[in-house]
Amino acid sequence: MALIHCLECNREVSDRAANCPHCGVPIAAVGTAGTSIIAPTTPVVIEKTSKKWKRHILIGFISALVILPFWLALGTVHGPDNTTAFTVFTVFTVALFVSAVYFFVAIIMAWWHHG
Ligand SMILES: [Zn+2]
Repeated sequence: MALIHCLECNREVSDRAANCPHCGVPIAAVGTAGTSIIAPTTPVVIEKTSKKWKRHILIGFISALVILPFWLALGTVHGPDNTTAFTVFTVFTVALFVSAVYFFVAIIMAWWHHG
């Protein structure tokens, strides 16, 4: 057991301590020389899902996100006497449905092509 200097507060800490008792910084990441003994973790990201399907997911998601407020707004406007609003509402309903389907199909395809 040796005393080392905490990298954060520079006070003496046991090298067996899990955390610095003064500032709480993890000691396990600090070597006896006061330098980091754990290499900076750079997670290796293995890109298995092709960008193609990720793009489709994004397109479906964004279009649904854009259409949804219009659809909700139109839903409150249209009535049985307002055929134009109802037609527009129907168009937006179909558009929302299509983008939702597009979004979920893209998710399924991304999953299918994963790995
Ligand atoms: Zn400290």
